[in-house]
Formats: sequence, structure tokens, C-alpha cells
Amino acid sequence: MNQSATHMGMAEEARTGCVIVGGGPAGVLLSLLLARKGVAVTLLEMHRDFDRDFRGDTIHASTLEVLDQIGLAEPLHELPHAKIRTLRMVTSTRTIDFVDLSRLKTRFPYVMMMPQFDFLEFLCARAEQYPSFHRIMGAAVFDLIREDSRVTGVRYKHEGEEHELIAPLVVACDGRFSRIRKLLGVTAEDQTPPMDAAWFRLSRKPDEDTEGGMFYLGGGNLLVMLMRPDDWQIAYVFPKGDFQALRDKGIERFRESIAQIVPWLADRVHEIENFHDVHLLKVGSDRLDQWYVPGLLFIGDAAHVMSPVGGIGINYAIGDAVEAANVLTAPLLAGAVGNADLAEVQKRRERVTRMAQRMQGAMQDNFVARALSDKEFDLPLPIRLALKVPGLRNIPARLIALGFRRLRLENP
Ligand SMILES: Cc1cc2nc3c(=O)[nH]c(=O)nc-3n(C[C@H](O)[C@H](O)[C@H](O)COP(=O)(O)OP(=O)(O)OC[C@H]3O[C@@H](n4cnc5c(N)ncnc54)[C@H](O)[C@@H]3O)c2cc1C
Repeated sequence: MNQSATHMGMAEEARTGCVIVGGGPAGVLLSLLLARKGVAVTLLEMHRDFDRDFRGDTIHASTLEVLDQIGLAEPLHELPHAKIRTLRMVTSTRTIDFVDLSRLKTRFPYVMMMPQFDFLEFLCARAEQYPSFHRIMGAAVFDLIREDSRVTGVRYKHEGEEHELIAPLVVACDGRFSRIRKLLGVTAEDQTPPMDAAWFRLSRKPDEDTEGGMFYLGGGNLLVMLMRPDDWQIAYVFPKGDFQALRDKGIERFRESIAQIVPWLADRVHEIENFHDVHLLKVGSDRLDQWYVPGLLFIGDAAHVMSPVGGIGINYAIGDAVEAANVLTAPLLAGAVGNADLAEVQKRRERVTRMAQRMQGAMQDNFVARALSDKEFDLPLPIRLALKVPGLRNIPARLIALGFRRLRLENP
């Protein structure tokens, strides 16, 4: 392998054991897991840093349990974070804790809220302790190298120069707008969730120290509030495609609606200066039929865009990385990854992902869409009753925190 050649232009061909395209949660964790087993990994990330606002900041028990297996859960907890133990629904008539994570049988009965930047830097710093890990920031993959029908490497631009990198496996972790999907011409049908979300941030007072994520419903509105270490991260959820209409009404009207839904925020809505402070998330949800071609595997959002319901996007990306490491470490060390190995990764992850997306779809139709159209929305009586039954009330918390199948590293 000749890693340094990657900086010398196309004339010299560089080789590595595995190219990982995209430094999001999937790519960074997979890099770490492979590097600690001695696989030569090169991580290519097109941005110069991990600084990203309003991305998944929710780290669930499933992820923390895996990090615990490799001794990283405790050091991660030393970084600034907040904990969400309940999800609370507030309507004009009642307040209900509809998800209570604190009852779960896990060392981590909460959602850890941490800026994704800190989380990724933390994982990367750990990966950098292994000589087999190499990351190149500001490296944008623009093409694939192929021999016959097999992907054998990538072409990327870095500091104005084009480079080639050859490897037995390319892992596409390049997110919901995957360039590699486009290069291969693969598409997936969007399941078009009925809503979009506008994310913004408001200051949090020291006494507003709640361990609950809050869902405010009323007047055909839905506002989700998540406590971050220093502020409130807030999603204003609205019917799909209505963002321009929202903007056209002006920022003052937007501030007023926030204050109407959550009156105790009225003293700070002025912090939203203009629509530059409001970030649109076009909610999507899709899944590739086949997550691999010879020599290349898709994982994370590149394989399946998740709706934000349940805040599970990061954790499903991480789940893919864990199973990819479980299955692929040995073949990668041997320098030969076959289609059967890649199919095995898909097999382990596809079913749970499909089930999670179905669950999200049901929540979107029965909860979000109804909340946005029904001015007097309340949780249906059968659900309110189920939340009082010990055997049933933990199910939503369990599915959100731990998923449909417990995640384990097989050779930590
Ligand atoms: C506004 C918003 C809010 C969200 N909130 C939550 C939440 O609360 N909880 C949650 O769990 N999830 C949330 N998500 C989803 C979550 O961020 C994703 O599911 C998760 O980050 C997916 O991880 P990933 O590693 O697959 O991809 P990503 O995190 O998208 O990472 C992909 C990486 O690939 C890089 N890249 C792309 N193209 C190239 C290329 N050609 N060459 C090199 N690098 C490339 C990108 O720069 C990026 O760093 C949210 C997403 C958005 C957009």
C-alpha cells in the first residue's frame, strides 16, 4: 500500500485496503472498527471539517452499547452532552410521557444529545491512534474506477488535483444525496413522508433542565423540542412542500406561531433573526433494493434514507457500520471481498431497516399527518390505554433505543 501517493496526483496509483467515501457516522465508525483490526482504511470526506448544524445529534442506547464494547462509552460521556429520558407530548388538554427510556434494561437508558461534530471528531481521534487509518478531508469523490463489472477504486479531487485510489472494497457512506448512487445509476423509490421540518435553535435558561424531548401539538401544528447541552434544538413540522409559503408569510409570523404553540418561548423568539436561522429538512425515506455491486457496498443514508421520526438515522447508519465490520473484517484482512460477503451485510441490515421504516411510516400517517390536519389532536384512546399497561408501555422506548435487533460487535 502506498498511502502518501494519494497526494501526488494521478500519475501515481495509490492503494489501500478499503476506501470509505463519506465521513458521517457510518463512514467514521466503520473506519474506526476496521482500523482497530488492522485493515488499511482510507476515509475520504469532501468537507474540510465535520462542522454541520442540525444533523442527527441523537445517540441512542444501541450505539452506546457498541461503543461500550470497545471501551469508548465512558470517554464519550466526558464530552458535553444532554440526556433525554422521556418523550413528552403536550396538547391543549393533556401532557403524556409516551416514551419512557428510563425503564429500559440497558446501561444507557436515555438518548445522548451531542453535536454530531463532537461525536465524529471523537471517533476520528480514536481511529487516528491506529497506523492503518488514514483520513483525507476536503477529498470529494467524483468517479469510480471499474474493471469489467467490478468497482476497483475511486477518483477524487483534493486541493485542486485529481487522484486515484485502488482498493478491494469501496464503501459508499456518502449520505442521502449519494454521488455514488448517481455514478452507478441506482435509484430508490422515495416513500414521500407527508411532512418537512424547519430546524432552528433558541437559547435555554439554566433552570430549563428537563430530561424530556417535547412534542407540542395544537392548532394543526407540531413542534419538537430537544435539549442540547447549551440550547434548544427545535423542529417546526409542517405539511410537505409548504416551506415557501411559510417564508412568504414572513419571519414575524413564523416567530408568532412558535410563541403561540409554546407560550414560554415568547421571550426569545426574537433570536430567530431571519430565515437564514431556519434550516429546511426535506424529509425523505427510501431504501435501495440491492446495497452492493461487485467491489462496492452502500451503507447508512446512502443505502436507506431514514425519516426523522424517532431520531434513528444516525443509529441505523451506525448499525450498518457495525454489521459491515462484523462481516467484512476477515475478508478485508485477506484482501478479497466477494459478493456473498456484501450480500450478507445487506441481509443482516435490510430487514430491521425495512421494519423501522414501516414503523416510521405508521407514525407519520397516524400521528404526524393527523396532528398537522387536526386542530384538536389527541393521542387515540387505545394508545393512551396501552401506555398504562406494563408489558406494552415499554415497546416504543425499546424500539427507538435498541431497534428491532440488538446490535453487537462480534469480535470487539
Ligand atoms: C436537518 C437534519 C436533521 C436530522 N436530525 C436527526 C436526528 O435528530 N437524529 C438522527 O438520528 N438523525 C437525524 N438526521 C439524519 C442523520 O443525520 C443521518 O441519518 C445520518 O447522519 C446518516 O449518516 P451517514 O453516515 O449515513 O451519512 P451522512 O451523515 O449524511 O454523511 C455523509 C458524508 O459523506 C460526505 N460526502 C458526500 N458526498 C461525498 C463525496 N462525493 N466524496 C466524499 N465525501 C462525500 C458528506 O460530506 C457527509 O459528511 C437528520 C438529518 C438532517 C439533514
